[in-house]
Amino acid sequence: MRGGDVKKLFFRLFFLVLFFLIAPGVIHAGAEEAGTVTVTHAAVYIRSGPGVSYPIAGKAAENDTYTVLQKDGDWFQIRLPQGNTGWIAGWLVETGTPSAKQSKQGKQGKITADRLRIRKAPDQSAAIVGTLEKNAVVTVTRAEGGWVYIESGNVSGWADSQYVQTEKNKNAGKMAENNVSAAIVAATSLNIRRSPSLQSGTVATVTYGTRLEITGTDHGWYEVELEDGTHGWVAGFYVTRESQAKRSSEAEVTLHSGTNLYKRPQSGSDTVGTAKAGDRFPVVSEMDGWYKIRLESGTSAYISAKAAQKSDTAVKKGIKGKTIVLDPGHGGTDNGTTGAYGTLEKLVTLKTANALYEKLKKAGARVILTRNSDTYVSLSERTAISNTNHADAFVSIHFDSAEDSHTRGHTTYYYHAQDYDFARLVNNQITSRLGTVDRGVKFGDFHVIRENTQPAILLELGYLSSPAEEKHIVEKSFQTKAVAGIYNGLKAYFQ
Ligand SMILES: [Zn+2]
Repeated sequence: MRGGDVKKLFFRLFFLVLFFLIAPGVIHAGAEEAGTVTVTHAAVYIRSGPGVSYPIAGKAAENDTYTVLQKDGDWFQIRLPQGNTGWIAGWLVETGTPSAKQSKQGKQGKITADRLRIRKAPDQSAAIVGTLEKNAVVTVTRAEGGWVYIESGNVSGWADSQYVQTEKNKNAGKMAENNVSAAIVAATSLNIRRSPSLQSGTVATVTYGTRLEITGTDHGWYEVELEDGTHGWVAGFYVTRESQAKRSSEAEVTLHSGTNLYKRPQSGSDTVGTAKAGDRFPVVSEMDGWYKIRLESGTSAYISAKAAQKSDTAVKKGIKGKTIVLDPGHGGTDNGTTGAYGTLEKLVTLKTANALYEKLKKAGARVILTRNSDTYVSLSERTAISNTNHADAFVSIHFDSAEDSHTRGHTTYYYHAQDYDFARLVNNQITSRLGTVDRGVKFGDFHVIRENTQPAILLELGYLSSPAEEKHIVEKSFQTKAVAGIYNGLKAYFQ
């Protein structure tokens, strides 16, 4: 336990005791009914009244526990460490008493399938010792390769874990939910509402690609905070959640044509379909000759390990072995922008990409250039190179221009929400190496990143329209620093 926790605990206890002393009448009804609430989301607002329209009275962090004073609808009035009170939304907390949280004698579980078969051993072919009805409450004492050992009043044995919901499963779901810290707007224009309802007033309007910090959720709505501090609610179906979009770093399997996708890890079992040659799926778990894979729909299926070629490249860290596609912008008849002193964008992008190519090659990456000379390559050819090679990263290199010759600096663009982190990591490293104006990470509707199925970003490394920056850009030291920045960004991304 950290010092801060001890202090927090002390204060909580102190006020709890104080509360008992000064308000014995109130606590009698309140505490017995509601007990405590524990915050289940990363950042939750505490309001001065029981509703989202009340002013914010404070912020609660995940796992903070508060004493409940009373309940009003979905809201709990809680005692704050400072001794004052506030209200917290019931859908952002878990109710309970601290003592009820842990039980050493296994976890409680609930059967989620009709007449679930309980077997003698953790194996599909093991003898059936009994069945359990849906919603039966059991005690789970052990887990093994997708099976759990359960005990109930009249039967004990092994059951398929996917049909037994345990406390741990529930929490795992919550934790995944908690990782969601941001959402990217997926509508052309989106209203931020005062409360989680389409009928509610608008507090701001944001455009496609805007990144919003999520501070809470309510039945399909997200409570969000804008950069300027404005907060409000957005309907979940107009945004892409960042973690939802995040690519998995799990192992993958590549399948042969006609490979059966089974419902269960058993050759004779029902299938959900067959694979096409070269289909790739992330592996969720492995067991005795079977892989459990995740399908695009989010559901899972089983494949025989013999039918699949497994690759762990996705989980290997570092640049070594990664397929990286570098895309020097423009080329051939397409000069790109022309600098104040006449520098052609197509030539500096190629120079930068070539230098980065050498550095990545040395580090053991498989590097592919969309062009390695002053030739014209169409935008769709560029994305095709990335997509067909299953690039682990695609980096398009450009230089900017603006009407105002004073505009300077570098910008990193992403299109797909899941590439935001990639863009952020590379941009951070470019900023620290290059030392030029950081124009930040932005959403950009560019063909090469939009049509890319692989992690893709587009860099605008500086303004050729700025005479001062152009002078800087053509120097060898600029190239070296820019290349080091992108390289370190890729390294951070593959960490
Ligand atoms: Zn360009």
